[in-house]
Amino acid sequence: MYQFDYQRAGSVAEAASALSANPEAKLLAGGQTLLPTLKQRLAQPEAVVDLSGVAELKSIGKDGDKVVIGAMATHAEVAANADVAGAIPALAKLAGGIGDPQVRHRGTIGGSLANNDPSADYPSAVLALNATVVTNKRQIGADDYFQGMFGTALAEDEIITAVHFPVPGFAGYEKIEQRASRYPLVGVFVAKPAGGSEVRVAVTGAGADGVFRCGPIEAALAANFAGSAAAGVSVDASSLMGDMHGSAEYRAALISVLAQRAVDGK
Ligand SMILES: Cc1cc2nc3c(=O)[nH]c(=O)nc-3n(C[C@H](O)[C@H](O)[C@H](O)COP(=O)(O)OP(=O)(O)OC[C@H]3O[C@@H](n4cnc5c(N)ncnc54)[C@H](O)[C@@H]3O)c2cc1C
Repeated sequence: MYQFDYQRAGSVAEAASALSANPEAKLLAGGQTLLPTLKQRLAQPEAVVDLSGVAELKSIGKDGDKVVIGAMATHAEVAANADVAGAIPALAKLAGGIGDPQVRHRGTIGGSLANNDPSADYPSAVLALNATVVTNKRQIGADDYFQGMFGTALAEDEIITAVHFPVPGFAGYEKIEQRASRYPLVGVFVAKPAGGSEVRVAVTGAGADGVFRCGPIEAALAANFAGSAAAGVSVDASSLMGDMHGSAEYRAALISVLAQRAVDGK
């Protein structure tokens, strides 16, 4: 690890001014990604601005027809929250299935979305539920937020403050884990808005360019919202990633199977 300055912010405004004072500074959430990166000397920020003392980033609750989750809410807190479980059970299930207990008690929704790992769970929920990523500067819709592998619409000095999830009419999430890391080998989130007919199907773990919406399965489910309709879709493997854990063709087959399970709830 290289030497760096450490600052514990007490508010979003304090963190924002620390970032604008030093363009080389990095935000620290739970450190689940940032600290290994620093230890391996893959990054050399001049300063680290710790968000763990910013109380305003930790709230979770229902606000009218949306669930609002603060950026510093840990996966364990989201999984255990009654408002989340009541309004979007699939989201609580997703959070409760991330990594292992240690990861769930340190990792945060803001850190996960800022990192946008192509195999992370949350991006699929944000994209399928058409959530809004709220920052200290603006609100970013899910379709504009994700910009390829590890890429997001965030500016260098932008801080995610919360994520707004509209309460859906239907939501289901299923994944197959990569057994060593517990990241999804493939994860599929299926959602329908409350009172709407649009179907959004977001896939993580499979896209060569990160999380993506699966148009053919969305069309099949829009015509017939049944697991069998999703299972009948043959997903094109040509733009998917393949690695030692599973070929692109295997991942393509899993997408249909997991979409079916997400709709059927099993
Ligand atoms: C062993 C292991 C297993 C894991 N398994 C899974 C899994 O199964 N599924 C899954 O989805 N994830 C998994 N993760 C990832 C984990 O859940 C964390 O979400 C992820 O590592 C980000 O960590 P963090 O929240 O602690 O953020 P940090 O590591 O502190 O920060 C990550 C990045 O986000 C930036 N950042 C943090 N907060 C903000 C903010 N509010 N605004 C703007 N930028 C910000 C930081 O500057 C940094 O660049 C795993 C991680 C580990 C170590």
